[in-house]
Amino acid sequence: MNYKIILYPSNWLYNAGVMGLIFTYPEYFTFKNGSVELDINLFKNIDYESYYFKDGKVINLIGKNQFYPNYIDTKGNQKDIFIKYFTSFSELENSGFCHICSHPHYINQNRYSELESGDKAAEKFLSKVKNFDMVYNKLLGPSKSKFPNSFWNLNESLSVCHLCSFVLIHHHLVYVELADKSQIFINAPSFKLMFELNRIIKSIYGSGLYDDQTSKREILATSIIEYARKVNVFLGKWTSMNIEIIIKSEDNIDFLSLPFDVINIISDRDIANLLGEIGETEVLKLILDQKFSELIDWAYKILRISFKKPENISKNDKDFIKNLMKLKRNQLNSQEFANKLLKLYSLIEDKLKGAIV
Ligand SMILES: [Zn+2]
Repeated sequence: MNYKIILYPSNWLYNAGVMGLIFTYPEYFTFKNGSVELDINLFKNIDYESYYFKDGKVINLIGKNQFYPNYIDTKGNQKDIFIKYFTSFSELENSGFCHICSHPHYINQNRYSELESGDKAAEKFLSKVKNFDMVYNKLLGPSKSKFPNSFWNLNESLSVCHLCSFVLIHHHLVYVELADKSQIFINAPSFKLMFELNRIIKSIYGSGLYDDQTSKREILATSIIEYARKVNVFLGKWTSMNIEIIIKSEDNIDFLSLPFDVINIISDRDIANLLGEIGETEVLKLILDQKFSELIDWAYKILRISFKKPENISKNDKDFIKNLMKLKRNQLNSQEFANKLLKLYSLIEDKLKGAIV
């Protein structure tokens, strides 16, 4: 059977789950505009034994922080039911109700009853599946018993369909862990865009070989700049306003996004290319702070210094250059560097004027 299910972006946790699956099983996913098509042959073909279990214990499904639910008994005695349950997903039915997706998919009722009539381990596992909504709610935010909120419509029970629960237990696989032990994920309204942005941060920051002074907003900006340099796309207004970085630390989840003007500027291909050529963190910080006109001050200051005789260059001048230009190629060609700053300013000015019109 060749059966496909279309998944649409939803809340960040679900999106992270879909991304975790795409990074793990790329051959079963096809991007379609902002959504993604899942080939449910995946559930028949996954090598559950070797991917999820090792030495009788569950692997790859256990997160590192307290928010992560133990979906399955970690000692692994629910292995049989785990495999039977997910293999049944190759015949999912579009039915029922789900608080996360608009196209809920559940295991066929007869098949489910069959699974339920299994042993004690099966019973235990399936009761966890039933209560998955509770765990999920804890992950997303405050306890509903303490903080009834409008998003949940004050519902007593939040249904999470079988397919969404499978998606959610893979959410941690996409995170990139930084030197400060926080884990990050970039959320956006399109799976293709999320895939590219997260792939970029994985390749740049996933290795741990980077300056750990890099702020989260610089990481988010860098991913957008690199994406704009690679792909000639214009991020629409709506899209760019909804790109955010999720930062998970030991006991907290933070969300950070960039102002619309900033995303509009750094996602412009010419500007992104020039920023990439310049390659200096101080320049990126200036853009993120939206202090664009300082680019001109900096450029003229660099030019003035470059025309001075070496004996007339003050300590202040030297400190300024040292702080701004970390890269050898810039230090050796300071006049060219200054010209790039001026060009950057004029491109930004044009872009902002364009945005107003
Ligand atoms: Zn669902």
